[in-house]
Amino acid sequence: MNQPVKRFIAGAVCPACSTMDTIRMFDVDGVPHRDCVECGYADTLDERGNAVPSELTTRVNAAKPKPAKPTTQTVQFFPNPRLKKKPE
Ligand SMILES: [Zn+2]
Repeated sequence: MNQPVKRFIAGAVCPACSTMDTIRMFDVDGVPHRDCVECGYADTLDERGNAVPSELTTRVNAAKPKPAKPTTQTVQFFPNPRLKKKPE
């Protein structure tokens, strides 16, 4: 299996993190792919040249909120310092 040759695109700006010169292009089975070395953004280009975000985009996956664990609820007690004051 040959690893795809990834080439940096000079002046390209990442659509995800807006950093310049972090976008690499490479072909997989003749389909152009792009990814960003800065934030991990990745997409492919369809036959029309439109960017199609890859499923590997960690940014989208990470955006999903994790379900809260009901067993990890923390109860905090804040003792009222005024109640501790003894009258002088
Ligand atoms: Zn990026």
